[in-house]
Amino acid sequence: MDKRYYFGIDIGGTTVKTGIFSAEGVLLEKSEIATRTGQGEEAIFGDIAAELSRLAHANGAELSECAAGIDIAGPVDEEGFMERGVNLGLDELYPARILSDMCGGMPSFALNDANAAALGEIWQGGGRGVSSAVMITLGTGVGGGVIQGGRVISGTHGLGGEIGHICVEPGEEELCSCGGRGCLEQYASATGIVRMARRVMAESEEYSGMRVTDPLTAKDVFDLAKKGDALAVRAADESMDRLGRAMAMICYVTDPESIIIGGGVSRAGEYLRALAQSKMEKYARLSKHYPKVVLAELGNDAGICGAAKYAMDMTAKQIEAPECGR
Ligand SMILES: [Zn+2]
Repeated sequence: MDKRYYFGIDIGGTTVKTGIFSAEGVLLEKSEIATRTGQGEEAIFGDIAAELSRLAHANGAELSECAAGIDIAGPVDEEGFMERGVNLGLDELYPARILSDMCGGMPSFALNDANAAALGEIWQGGGRGVSSAVMITLGTGVGGGVIQGGRVISGTHGLGGEIGHICVEPGEEELCSCGGRGCLEQYASATGIVRMARRVMAESEEYSGMRVTDPLTAKDVFDLAKKGDALAVRAADESMDRLGRAMAMICYVTDPESIIIGGGVSRAGEYLRALAQSKMEKYARLSKHYPKVVLAELGNDAGICGAAKYAMDMTAKQIEAPECGR
């Protein structure tokens, strides 16, 4: 049944961020505790359960009036099973069941971090008001989340939305972290952008502010590009060109209303957004109807928002189809 309060829990390798939301979606309180990584599930989830109790009581709630969504790194299948908890040193777990058991049977549901961010952004962030969107997170790597008809699409094996490993350059010789070559992540992640910049510099004798910036970061590349530094403009263009190719492929698979760009790299703002939009339109030629490329707005809160929304959606679904409930 519907609950009065929803927790959004973002379990990272270093900290666990938690938000308690009202049924109307208002964030009442946020907190952050350390993740006792490597000490087993009892330690990690025991700490979270204690924190949920504290947050509930501080906001005048009982755990029986709450449901929780858990945002966690790594593929989570539709049953909530994780083969590997990437940052936690845990294997083969059902995070939602563990938490539910520790919290007196509180309804709990787990989803992958990229999907949680996507759901959060269409609920309260840059994708507000749309029901189909793809979020691309440009950070250390490239992550993705796919929402269709308001639902997270995680796929048969939890691989739905692993946009970072779409091959955009079959001729690439360097290896990606996944073992493949030519993945989007090799061009459009923070490290990929710096790699492109080094490649552009190696191919030219031309002066560039990038040559005297040490260490060179993706932010530096975009800052210099905005100032008109020719090689930085070229590096940003090369990176966004590959992103545009991947976005065109996405258009032809799910045809979303919006593509939301988030992650640290997206702080380059309108320059990056406009470039990505034009590159996508260059490669998606079949129709003049393109998704709108927008920037994420929730930053680090996207995960807790999306996880809370997931808990709301899943508890609502249990009313409609009790036989599917856990
Ligand atoms: Zn890859």
